[in-house]
Amino acid sequence: MADASTECNIKVLCRFRPLNQSEIIRGDQFLPKFQGDDTVIVGGKSYVFDRVFPTNTTQEQVYNTCAKQIVKDVLGGYNGTIFAYGQTSSGKTHTMEGKLHDPHQMGIIPRIAEDIFNHIFAMDENLEFHIKVSYFEIYMDKIRDLLDVTKTNLSVHEDKNRVPYVKGCTERFVSSPDEVMDVIDEGKSNRHVAVTNMNEHSSRSHSIFLINIKQEHVETEQKLCGKLYLVDLAGSEKVSKTGAAGAVLDEAKNINKSLSALGNVISALAEGTKTHVPYRDSKMTRILQDSLGGNCRTTMFICCSPSSYNDAETKSTLMFGQRAK
Ligand code: ADP
Ligand code: MG
Repeated sequence: MADASTECNIKVLCRFRPLNQSEIIRGDQFLPKFQGDDTVIVGGKSYVFDRVFPTNTTQEQVYNTCAKQIVKDVLGGYNGTIFAYGQTSSGKTHTMEGKLHDPHQMGIIPRIAEDIFNHIFAMDENLEFHIKVSYFEIYMDKIRDLLDVTKTNLSVHEDKNRVPYVKGCTERFVSSPDEVMDVIDEGKSNRHVAVTNMNEHSSRSHSIFLINIKQEHVETEQKLCGKLYLVDLAGSEKVSKTGAAGAVLDEAKNINKSLSALGNVISALAEGTKTHVPYRDSKMTRILQDSLGGNCRTTMFICCSPSSYNDAETKSTLMFGQRAK
């Protein structure tokens, strides 16, 4: 095992997407003012993060600044989690996945897949690697396996070391970046099949891609394990109090509850005190428990729209990110 200290490293990065065509046509204003590389000013108020990425930041720049080091750490035996938080259409999926098969526009997950195997090929030949991935989503507090559509309500269990995991979730062994991409494609197409409106659905569920890396030295039999959770969260927007009813309102309440549970865990960890961390308040935080506290690397992307039209949501998103600081 790597140094199992209680050191917890939480980074909060803020990314603004450009104005889109319909926002430009509508004549929306561009709200954020960027200052240095860690501050953004919105509505006269400054928000400071570990890093702020203005709208023209490339996928490669984002990857190099934040995720590259996490890959090294996970190969060194640490656990990690990378989240994208923000309202629908703020750039979460663009950041986590991007255009999967486009070398310039691909996001963090495909770059991680490539990077892991590049590192492995350059490492000691006496190390044997076993890499497996899982892909699931949490919708209305139910865990659905994206690699086996028959598994629609998986539960969270603890193994003999009291480490939580999703019981019965499909695990695929992968031995190249292409195999990882195949699994992602498969999961995404399964996700499409089961729902009528993909855009709506993806904005209301959390999708979680897990990469598990085990390595063993062939002579000494020394083992090292690390895992990385890559989480594209449900949209953080509030539904209008008048417009929503029935199922939509239930969904919204559910999302709100799970996102606040996550916020509470992150802010308890960020305070760094040994006080109670409320992991058990939601399925997602239970699953992520051993990849958020203690032996971990955590990065949260705060994704924002620059448009004056989204002023209120952007401020609330920025405030969420500030709680983790
Ligand atoms: P979300 O997943 O938060 O709902 P998306 O990632 O799907 O949002 O982004 C919404 C749209 O904006 C997509 O068409 C996406 O390609 C585009 N977009 C998001 N972020 C950026 C960015 N940084 N640069 C260029 N286009 C972006
Ligand atoms: Mg999305």
